Amino acid sequence: MKAKIYYITADSRAFAYESGLEGKFENFLKGFDLTAYITRDEVVPIKMHLGNRGAFRTIRPQFVKLVVDAVKNVPAQPFVTDSVRVPGYEYLEIAKNAGYTHLTLGAPVVLADGIYGNDSLKVKAGELLGEVSIASAIHDARSMVVLTHVKGHIQAVLGGAIKNLSMGGVSLAPRNGSWQQGRGKMHFLMGDIMEWDEEKCTLCHDCMNICPVESITFPDDKYTVDKEKCWRCGRCARVCPVEALAVPVTHEIFMKALAEGAKAVLDTFDEHRILYVNFLLEMQPECDCMPMADPPVAQDQGILISDDPVAIDTATLDILSRIKPLPDSRASDITMKEGWDIFSLLHKKDGRLQLKEAEHLGLGSSDYELIKVG
Ligand code: SF4
Ligand code: SF4
Repeated sequence: MKAKIYYITADSRAFAYESGLEGKFENFLKGFDLTAYITRDEVVPIKMHLGNRGAFRTIRPQFVKLVVDAVKNVPAQPFVTDSVRVPGYEYLEIAKNAGYTHLTLGAPVVLADGIYGNDSLKVKAGELLGEVSIASAIHDARSMVVLTHVKGHIQAVLGGAIKNLSMGGVSLAPRNGSWQQGRGKMHFLMGDIMEWDEEKCTLCHDCMNICPVESITFPDDKYTVDKEKCWRCGRCARVCPVEALAVPVTHEIFMKALAEGAKAVLDTFDEHRILYVNFLLEMQPECDCMPMADPPVAQDQGILISDDPVAIDTATLDILSRIKPLPDSRASDITMKEGWDIFSLLHKKDGRLQLKEAEHLGLGSSDYELIKVG
């Protein structure tokens, strides 16, 4: 059976609230049966990425509030959450400044793996990852709503529902473990330190400045990492302007590990307990982890809703294979090619690989039916 995906397009046909995306999304949620996923009175994480300082192109609080209200109408008890991506206290400040507060959303904003990012539980994962630590507030939940701001990603290519589940659900490290059981393992499957090319390095120190835990120094102008402090987040390699740093993993192995991480998170839930909402809005080339925002590479497309993470990300890339790159964006020089999406062309890697791996692991189906609503 084909997976159902509801598609609310971004266009508006009239100067009326009901005609705009927010109004159409609200109407959709009012008519949608969330009790198929969420049981009365349970506590429900609404998983999203809370952004970073300067990364203002995240999901607007108005949309998050509509989902909070819909969960409350079950009736159930929602909280908005993500695992720690920059030090926890700082991440809560970032969330507040982005407009994600109890007051604005109508639900508490909670760090899924605690203020120190180590409140997590180890579970079995696949052959690459072995064991991973799942953020406790996600691990212990019975149902969940996953809100994903669709964007590009230098390594995963697509920042979609699968990446949100995997990188966001797997914590940095368990209380009594190390990065080996954390999300950083996905980046470091073929070594425990970045590969540094001294010949290429211009000593610009961009890597040092982006590191969320200040683990990089340059004694005698040599890239040096404090291995104990390093989260293995991969950001130092991503920002290097001359590719002097490389994460020790191939694209193929990383994509497999990403799918394994998503499966480990999904395995903590019973079937049909998670709803996914992809926001194809303000789609910038890079992850919301970065401390800045770039102009969107494609025009706003709207919102997709499904209970199948493979289907919703496949539909996302299918839509992004038919768009025109926006002028004055990082994709402005790209010529679209049949069967290729804008993020794969931009990052020069196959973004569908993560979906193929996820489908292979049984996370969902790439066969879907798109149902336009509103
Ligand atoms: S960002 Fe790259 S070029 Fe700049 S100091 Fe770091 S390794 Fe060297
Ligand atoms: S991978 Fe790089 S940026 Fe991330 S914590 Fe380690 S040294 Fe810092």
